[in-house]
Amino acid sequence: MGRVRKIVMVGGGLVGSLLSVMLGRRGYRVTVFEKRPDMRLKEISAGRSINLALAERGINALKKAELFDEVEPLLIPMRGRMLHPLGGEQEFSPYGQRPHEVIHSVSRGMLNQVMLTAAEDAEEVAVHFLQECTGVDLDKREIELLDHESGKKHRVGYDILLGTDGAASEVRSAIVRATGGSFCTEWLDHDYKELEIPAGPDGTFQIDKNSLHVWPRHGYMLIALPNLDSSFTVTLFLQKQGEPGFDRLDSPQAVTNFFHEQFPDALALIPELAQDFAANPAGGLGTIRCSKWTNGQDALILGDASHAIVPFHGQGMNAGFEDCALLTRLLDETGTDWPEAMSRFERERIADANAIADMALENYVTMRDTVLDPQFHLKKKIGFELEMRWPRRFIPRYSMVMFHNIPYHIVQQRGLVQNEILELVIANRSPTGEINWPHADSLVGGRLDEISWPTQ
Ligand SMILES: Cc1cc2nc3c(=O)[nH]c(=O)nc-3n(C[C@H](O)[C@H](O)[C@H](O)COP(=O)(O)OP(=O)(O)OC[C@H]3O[C@@H](n4cnc5c(N)ncnc54)[C@H](O)[C@@H]3O)c2cc1C
Repeated sequence: MGRVRKIVMVGGGLVGSLLSVMLGRRGYRVTVFEKRPDMRLKEISAGRSINLALAERGINALKKAELFDEVEPLLIPMRGRMLHPLGGEQEFSPYGQRPHEVIHSVSRGMLNQVMLTAAEDAEEVAVHFLQECTGVDLDKREIELLDHESGKKHRVGYDILLGTDGAASEVRSAIVRATGGSFCTEWLDHDYKELEIPAGPDGTFQIDKNSLHVWPRHGYMLIALPNLDSSFTVTLFLQKQGEPGFDRLDSPQAVTNFFHEQFPDALALIPELAQDFAANPAGGLGTIRCSKWTNGQDALILGDASHAIVPFHGQGMNAGFEDCALLTRLLDETGTDWPEAMSRFERERIADANAIADMALENYVTMRDTVLDPQFHLKKKIGFELEMRWPRRFIPRYSMVMFHNIPYHIVQQRGLVQNEILELVIANRSPTGEINWPHADSLVGGRLDEISWPTQ
């Protein structure tokens, strides 16, 4: 392939805007086509995760793009989960055990706006809004766009096509068709709906600001993440149908009764419950697994387009940002050989995408159910102690996902072994519950050393 002159990117969401900054700063000419209006001029619609948890992988990529200084003032650190059991006292469960082991609540809109502005500041990047990709011709190296202002269609050519167009990716369809790859969406039978705890009358947070609040109710849950204006975005995750299910919450009275029974403390903080419940749409939750992310020549998908996951580990965006850092590293390593970098990206990353997809699904059960089990807290306590004794060898799985950059598939493998170790340690306690630490120490090492990872 000759010199890459023109990169076309479809989708200027979280991943597209970050990647365009990274490529623009490397001198590539990038044209981004985004189907929605410019969110800096028009308020984005509610109902699609108003805020998100940003963790180490995302921060690492933002730092590589030299954007973290601009993003940092938008962040609210969350040090752990504040559990709200039914009828019980609030209980705080820290995420990590070192001061920097926190995750951060950030507004999706504000983050996207910072990155879009940085993209446009890079001389080589142009972002065009209200341009929807309606077709991809990989043979002719052209995409078809519908201009939502004029209502007309037009075509644009490219040297490299990057699909950052989210879970319903048009670019993915073309790549899968051309390569004979396979792709599936596994829908969860649970939906989500967003609500709001407003700031208190004095403009302060009504519940602890530095926690991710969880109301676990076994089969379902409510969570709340803080916003800079002292409000919280609250999300109900619940099955679509059944008792209880979204289909049963079909009147203001049914909604209020449900909250009164299951989330009485939250009900007292959500004054607009019935109105918001009726006005905000219920969103679906799915996992996308795709076997081909590139045609091996000039087209590649990244972010949710290639690996949308359920939100229970707070990693979809973080994984997408990590994609951006990986692609730029591979471009460096291959001397900007795009076909080689794209093929290596697919080879190296699919196992990671599948691993975080699995762990995100498991974490739904952890958040809504397992956190209520005393065994979960015992395992966590022992895990923290083993981490103190063996800092490079035993890192709790949650910490590996959220506070490290260890490849997800390694995290998954080490997590399984670590869980077996924790179960053996618990089984070997004395009749009075004392841990046999020499035995625990002897279990760590050996098998864990076999599953190592490259450091970058
Ligand atoms: C309820 C919920 C909570 C979440 N919480 C977290 C969290 O706490 N932490 C975390 O890391 N992740 C979280 N996520 C996941 C995160 O939202 C996604 O992983 C992330 O948005 C992916 O970014 P993306 O740019 O790949 O896709 P998107 O954000 O979907 O962006 C795709 C962009 O492409 C545009 N587009 C789509 N089709 C076309 C087209 N044909 N032509 C032109 N433009 C197009 C769209 O308008 C959009 O702007 C959550 C998701 C949900 C649903």
